[in-house]
Amino acid sequence: MDMMNYINGEWVKSHTNETLDVINPATGQVLAKTPLGSKAEVDAAAKAASEAFPGWRRTPVQERVQYLFKLRDLLKANHDEIGRLITNECGKTFEEAKGEMVRAIENVEVACGMPMMMKGELVEDIAAGIDELMIRQPVGVCATIAPFNFPGMIAFWFLPYAIAAGNTYIVKPSEKVPMTMQFIFKLIEQVGFPKGVVNLVNGAKEVVDGILEHPAIRAITFVGSTNVAKYIYATAAAHGKRVQAQGGAKNPVIVLPDADMEMATKIVADSAFGCAGQRCLAVSFAVTVADARNTFTEMICDAASSRVVGYGLDSGVQMGPLINAASKARVEQLIGLGIQEGAAIPVDGRDARIRGYEGGYFVKPTILADVPRGSEIARTEIFGPVLSLMHVNTVDEAIDLVNGGQYGNQASLFTSSGSAARKFRYEAEAGNIGINIGVAAPMAFFPFSGWKDSFFGDMHGQSMDAVEFFTQKKVVVERWPKEWSRKF
Ligand code: NAD
Repeated sequence: MDMMNYINGEWVKSHTNETLDVINPATGQVLAKTPLGSKAEVDAAAKAASEAFPGWRRTPVQERVQYLFKLRDLLKANHDEIGRLITNECGKTFEEAKGEMVRAIENVEVACGMPMMMKGELVEDIAAGIDELMIRQPVGVCATIAPFNFPGMIAFWFLPYAIAAGNTYIVKPSEKVPMTMQFIFKLIEQVGFPKGVVNLVNGAKEVVDGILEHPAIRAITFVGSTNVAKYIYATAAAHGKRVQAQGGAKNPVIVLPDADMEMATKIVADSAFGCAGQRCLAVSFAVTVADARNTFTEMICDAASSRVVGYGLDSGVQMGPLINAASKARVEQLIGLGIQEGAAIPVDGRDARIRGYEGGYFVKPTILADVPRGSEIARTEIFGPVLSLMHVNTVDEAIDLVNGGQYGNQASLFTSSGSAARKFRYEAEAGNIGINIGVAAPMAFFPFSGWKDSFFGDMHGQSMDAVEFFTQKKVVVERWPKEWSRKF
């Protein structure tokens, strides 16, 4: 099956002959082909979105959100089908896939509040008979460039807010996992948006560059790895666009001796090994403080080695494969590097064999212990089911370790001490903080934060940040004729 583009309300075949195989990472089976589209296809989508914009921005906001109500119902009605697609092309378990879409739907629901969210401000009589107001207007054509690890959710951090606010849109999914978004666009087609309001272009770098350079595209959101995020941020800004770019992560968790160890172990294991560690909020290193070391190490090793790994649609499976062969090779090579740098490996998930799925790209949960501070493995985003353990003697040392990293997506603390929790919340340098939480994913009515090399930009996705990002403020000062404003 070839992936198609959806431009101006029509399904169109890409002009390009160059394609990438979409592979079920649990079986190695080729499911589809992604056309590696061209700048001409971006141009066609941008033209359609530009032509649709004047009519769409004039559509009353309460009418625009009616389309979102319909989309929300269709996403809910097709929840299982979308979940199966995500599992098959991305590898995560069915439960994880459905969980991803819960977040997508939640964002559509929050964006349905746009009539309240995009209200402006007005102050009367800033001088005699003069009023001043601020109104929010849509910015125009906007686009999202998405990563592979959440094939359904990521576009929904942005798209519902953008179109509810009166913008028109282009989505470029990851070329590795285009099938979920193709299916979601079939639902978008059923919703019946006016032609050109929402468009889909498949491809890789050339399509991304087409988006970055296109004069009609006014705002771009990107989610992916840090090096590409930096490139997107710099290039889009050089072309005068609004841009927000979310990057990679290396998320720490601190475990204090007063933590509920059973709860901490379960939650940290779910965070580190859920989605096979291919999640920007996955915990990837745990810092034990003082006496927490022995208990936590023993319990987390048990949790890692007992995790059921396999094909995400099979019942009882708790963790799926990595996205492709290159990713498996890279993760195994990084585990090897950790050992060379002096780490112990109490649980080794390399060379995993899953019966019936010999063609899959599985790495089982892995624990690297006594990871040396300052080593490459302690700094690098692994993006696989590998948890590194480090040990310090005080909370202050642990927070120093957390804040010494390049990234700032998420940091968590497990404790029963209120003062330690407050200190951590205050001092930890990360955009998303978890206290006794392993995946501190913000709900749709909060911004999805991120600091340091995990985020480039000002406004984030979701909630009021998305409204700010997808609207431009216009301030108007109005003088009224004296006879209209004088006191009668
Ligand atoms: P990626 O950076 O390889 O790809 C992301 C997107 O960028 C894709 O659509 C791809 O086509 C495009 N792209 C890739 N290389 C490009 C290049 N050289 N020039 C222009 N465009 C390019 O990321 P990925 O491997 O798909 O996703 C995993 C990464 O995403 C991890 O680093 C993860 O931490 C990060 N991520 C971050 C968040 C967050 O909220 N911060 C969320 C999800 C994923």
